[in-house]
Amino acid sequence: MLKAYKYRLYPTEQQKDYFANCFGCARFIYNQMLSEKIDHYKETKQMLQNTPAQYKKEFPFLKEVDSLALANAQQNLERAYKNFFRDKSVGFPKFKSKHKSKASYTTNNQGGNIRLEDGKIKLPKIGFVKLKQHRTFEGVIKSCTISMNKSGKYFVSILVKSEEGKMEFTKRKIGIDLGLSDFAITTNDLGEVKKHENPKHLYKAEKRLKKAQRSLSRKQKGGKNRNKARLQVAKKHEKISNQRKDFLHKLTKKITDENQVIVIETLSSKNLMKNRKLAKSIGDAGWHEFVRQLEYKAEQKGRTIIKADRFYPSSQMCSACGHRDGKKPLHIRQWECPHCGEHLDRDINASKNLLALAK
Ligand SMILES: [Zn+2]
Repeated sequence: MLKAYKYRLYPTEQQKDYFANCFGCARFIYNQMLSEKIDHYKETKQMLQNTPAQYKKEFPFLKEVDSLALANAQQNLERAYKNFFRDKSVGFPKFKSKHKSKASYTTNNQGGNIRLEDGKIKLPKIGFVKLKQHRTFEGVIKSCTISMNKSGKYFVSILVKSEEGKMEFTKRKIGIDLGLSDFAITTNDLGEVKKHENPKHLYKAEKRLKKAQRSLSRKQKGGKNRNKARLQVAKKHEKISNQRKDFLHKLTKKITDENQVIVIETLSSKNLMKNRKLAKSIGDAGWHEFVRQLEYKAEQKGRTIIKADRFYPSSQMCSACGHRDGKKPLHIRQWECPHCGEHLDRDINASKNLLALAK
C-alpha cells in the first residue's frame, strides 16, 4: 500500500533558487506541451504524442532541472488530456498559471537517489536539504513532491510503499497490560512473558524537560532570556516526542509482526488516572499513541485486536484458577492467590488474564 508523509523543508537560498527553477520548468513544459497538443488537435482531431526531451534543444534551461520533474509534469498532462479525449465536453485541460497554480514538482526515487539521512533528505540533482521529520515511516520511497505555499514555506510529501502488506498467518496470541513502572507487560500463548521498559533515555530527557520548564516559568515575561528558554523547551519537547514515537513504532511493529490475535485493555479515564498519578514516564499520550499504532498496523497486516471490556477484572482475577478476590490497591504489586496459592505479579497476571480473552 502507498502512503504519503509530509514534512517541512528548510532549503538554503541556493536550494530555493533551484526549487523555483523546477517549479517554473515543470509548469513551462506542461503549458508548452499542452499548447502543441491543442494546436495539433484543432488541425487533425488527433492526440499528439510529445515528450519533454523534444523541447530541450529549443529551451536549454530545461536541462538545468531534474528531468524526472519534467517527466512527471508530462504524466500529469497526459492524465488530464486523456480525460478530455474521453469526454470532450470537459474542454481542454487548463494552462498552469504562475500565480494561481500550486508551485510544486514531483520526482522519483531511482536506486536510492532519494533518501533520508539525519535530518536531511537527499533529492536528485541538488543533494541534501534540511527537513523536520516529526514522525518516521517504514517502507520504500517511491516519489516526492516538493512544494512551496503562499507564505513561502517549503514542504516535501514523500510517497512510501509500505512493506507491511498482509502478513502470513501465525497462531501466536498475546495479551498486553499497560504497566506503571514498565510501559507494557506481554504474555503470549507459549507462556513467554516480557516486560517492555520505558526507554531510560526518554525518562532522563523528560526530567531535563521539566527542569527547563521550571526555569522558563521563572524568566521574566517579554525578556530576551525568556524567549531563548522557550525555544529550548520547545526543542526538548519535540525531541522527546520523536523519541517516544520511535520507541512505540518499534514495539507495535514487533507485536503486530509476531501475533495474530492481540488483546489489550480499553483505555478508560480510570486507568489513565492511575497512569497520571504513578507512571514516571511516557504519559497517557504514549498509551493512546500505542493503541492507535497497534490498531492501524494490525489492520494492515490482517491481525485481530480484541479490546477487553472496561470492567473486565484483569487485575483482580487469578490467572491460574480464575478466583476473584476483589479490588487490589495499586501499591500491591504481588500477592498469593488465597484459593490456589499461586504467586501472582500484578502486571504479568493482568496480561495473562487479557491473553485468556483470545482463546
Ligand atoms: Zn488462583
